[in-house]
Amino acid sequence: MVLVYSLDVSAPLLRTQGYVDGRWISAASVFPVLDPATGQEIVRVSDCGPAEAKQAVDAAYKAFHSWKQYTAKERSVLLRKWFELLLLHKDELAQLITFECGKPMRESLGEISYSASFLEWFSEEARRVYGDIVPSPAKDRKLLLLKQPVGVASIITPWNFPSAMITRKVGAALAAGCTVVVKPAEDTPLSALALAELAEQAGIPAGVFNVVPCSRESTPSVGRVLCTDPLVAKISFTGSTATGKVLLKMAADTVKKVSMELGGHAPFIVFDSADLDKAVGGAMASKFRNSGQTCVCSNRFLVQSAVYDRFVEKLGGAMDAELRLGHGSEPDTTQGPLINARAAEKVLHQISDAVSRGAKVVKGGKRLDGSFMEPTLLADVTADMLCTKEETFGPLVPVIRQVQTGDRD
Ligand code: NAP
Repeated sequence: MVLVYSLDVSAPLLRTQGYVDGRWISAASVFPVLDPATGQEIVRVSDCGPAEAKQAVDAAYKAFHSWKQYTAKERSVLLRKWFELLLLHKDELAQLITFECGKPMRESLGEISYSASFLEWFSEEARRVYGDIVPSPAKDRKLLLLKQPVGVASIITPWNFPSAMITRKVGAALAAGCTVVVKPAEDTPLSALALAELAEQAGIPAGVFNVVPCSRESTPSVGRVLCTDPLVAKISFTGSTATGKVLLKMAADTVKKVSMELGGHAPFIVFDSADLDKAVGGAMASKFRNSGQTCVCSNRFLVQSAVYDRFVEKLGGAMDAELRLGHGSEPDTTQGPLINARAAEKVLHQISDAVSRGAKVVKGGKRLDGSFMEPTLLADVTADMLCTKEETFGPLVPVIRQVQTGDRD
């Protein structure tokens, strides 16, 4: 039986055009947004190019001159209103995340609360942008430190938190008096566009918040505008280390201010003295959120030899008991698909590399339909294997036996 899942989101929140200078704009072509769980097309979205990106930068620059003149209270009230609208529409916004990114609904609802919390926080901080008076070394001087908005910020975000990564950056920028151009990931433009709709409903003025969705093919040319245009003062990026390096190089010529949040490779360490049930609980929580696709997911598991076998056995038991694969809108799903086929292939490649070097598959190991991957537990992993050197971004637990120096004697 083929199950059909349909998105139930009202028209104003399901936007398919770019949002520039307070208007919804079409581009010369479109790109499809797919449900990663089924591969089905959800909608087609305007594929903005460098011309639309430039239009957005110009609009943000024009709007900056008036937005920075708003009082702290005025900016605070608008951000607060935006926050309240996110909460009002949290079910629909969560559905958008589940359908474009694959997350189970419970996690998507959690992301909307998290996303809204940044707007709430910065609506309050907007009113506390204080300066300082510094004791002067000279009697005839006064030193005053003022905090001022830098101007237009380019905001480039990943697909794994398609709402929260935007509000975290944009909340701060708008509170400070900056204006923004957001480029969401190709896989997840819908959450960004829904945020634009709600920003408009909240009364955030035209040009202050702009969104230029684009396909992966258009990304380099759009990115070039956002990272090199002289009217852009700041770049805030969350994504892979490789992309971060490309953006840093582009930002250098005009010496832009940059904030980079890049990839992770977190170790999870279990000592012989650990409470193993707690260690297993921690491993499950830190590995399998969003099917292993968060930057803080544990990537390699270092377990001391005396508890190694018991840890692997208990973790395997917990994986069997707790993990349920499926479409994110099914209530008992805990593991959605990976974001796309490339992501599943990467995990599979790490597994076959590890197995070819002597690792043992204790659980899972296979790619399923579409971009679903079986949650996988590997034992006898060694430090020469790919999975211990590069970020996996998927549901793979490679467990390395740590032998103490004393153990070898
Ligand atoms: P990615 O490939 O670096 O993509 C991130 C964003 O950069 C996407 O919007 C992407 O657009 C865009 N991009 C790629 N090339 C670009 C270019 N030349 N110019 C301008 N924009 C460009 O990363 P990802 O695979 O989506 O996300 C996963 C990575 O993000 C992982 O490494 C993860 O650890 C990291 N991450 C870190 C944090 C943190 O807090 N440190 C949080 C979340 C994720 P397209 O989608 O169109 O390619």
